[in-house]
Amino acid sequence: MICLYVLDDKTPGKWAMGGASRWWLHHSLASLDSGLQRLGTRLILRRGDAFEIVTGLASELGAQTVFWNRCYEPSARERDAQIKAQLKDGGIGAETFNGSLLVEPWHLKTKDGGPFRVYSPYFRALAPHCDDVALLPVPGAIQDGSDGVHSDALSNWSLLPSAPDWSKGFSPVWTPGEAGARERLETFCEDAASEYAGTRNLPGTEGTSRLSAHLHFGEISPRQVWHHTVRHVPAGKGRETFLKEIGWREFSYNLLFHFDDLPESNYQTKFNGFPWDFDEGSFEKWTRGQTGYPIVDAGMRQLWQTGWMHNRVRMIVASFLTKHLLIDWRRGEEWFWDTLVDADLANNAASWQWVAGSGADAAPYFRIFNPVTQGKKFDEAGSYVREWVPELSRLSAKYIHAPWTAPAEELKRAGIKLGRDYPEPIVDHPKARERALAAFSSLKDAA
Ligand code: FAD
Repeated sequence: MICLYVLDDKTPGKWAMGGASRWWLHHSLASLDSGLQRLGTRLILRRGDAFEIVTGLASELGAQTVFWNRCYEPSARERDAQIKAQLKDGGIGAETFNGSLLVEPWHLKTKDGGPFRVYSPYFRALAPHCDDVALLPVPGAIQDGSDGVHSDALSNWSLLPSAPDWSKGFSPVWTPGEAGARERLETFCEDAASEYAGTRNLPGTEGTSRLSAHLHFGEISPRQVWHHTVRHVPAGKGRETFLKEIGWREFSYNLLFHFDDLPESNYQTKFNGFPWDFDEGSFEKWTRGQTGYPIVDAGMRQLWQTGWMHNRVRMIVASFLTKHLLIDWRRGEEWFWDTLVDADLANNAASWQWVAGSGADAAPYFRIFNPVTQGKKFDEAGSYVREWVPELSRLSAKYIHAPWTAPAEELKRAGIKLGRDYPEPIVDHPKARERALAAFSSLKDAA
């Protein structure tokens, strides 16, 4: 047997892997290769058109069968169908499996036989299929067939950034690979899962699993996560809420499978006439964490420095971009695509559309997060902001989410001059809110 990984940047087109994901991929492949070497073989690496490489190598080596796990991104589905057909034409078997979902999208249908568009009934249909999933054991050894087969050197793929190396903050936080994924799951189930219902909303605590990138890269499967959770976390609100989040991931895949253009087009077509207003300067301030709203800036800097952002803050920054700045959700989606280690076509597109209001079962557009209230509610003592926006670290909790409301003496004591050390807010919340609501009602008037 030979184990092959193909880095195919052509098939996904615009959605070729972003920079932060490439950092993860490098370490994940290195880890996979070590794991395979322990089993007696190695990982063969090839870069290029997956169709050419897989079908070419299979016939060159006289393979009997090619095995892979199914993908659900539209371009990958199309490519894999072509590979399968070509292999079969050449008399080579092709066997594919579900390695990354609890239940594949075509198995769950509404009573009318159509796809689910609303999350709660979707989850009710999904959950009964999950408790009794059986896990397969890891093989004890793999018979190596890779002798004489060329493999690219991982270091030649230049997946790690250099000049400048913006990934310095990644290694202290992440351990890509199966062992790192397993450890995250076990630690989370032991330390945090029971309290997850409350702590998952607090960005200043380690209240969530941080499994998203491990799940995306297939280092752990949702079946393993579900299986371990129901066996090691006592039944209760924490466990239930966590499993529902795993359900949101499945729901996103269900949406992407049934609505191919989810990453590019408004799911609710009435948003096609939305008067977005792109301003380069404001967009850049948002990407750099310089909006003057501390919770937004903390999130955007956490993202840049670690390749990950807490879910509550993802919602706040996405709402800020699409509603306070009226910038099209697709610009935010692209920025996240490049900067997240867990960038995932289904989750990213579904979540951006959910926040923007254009998605399936989405938050209503008129629910516009107030970044100050959100900060006070979910980062009450300001510890999250202090960590990621250190220039504000000496401000008291009372003012940390709205420094412009602090009296002059307080700012002086904290060593801050607004506009010099930290920006004034780039938009006024009440005015921005009004502008967003007016934009939304123009849509309703046009409909
Ligand atoms: P936990 O809270 O521990 O949840 C466990 C797992 O459930 C996650 O690892 C993830 O696989 C899944 N999950 C949790 N919340 C969601 C959700 N709302 N939608 C779908 N699945 C979820 N998640 C990604 O994996 N990739 C993305 O590209 C992505 N982009 C997002 C963009 C925006 C604007 C928003 C608001 C959310 C996005 N999410 C994305 C969803 C969510 O923020 C992350 O999955 C979560 O923060 C990952 O951290 P965790 O593993 O600690 O999550």
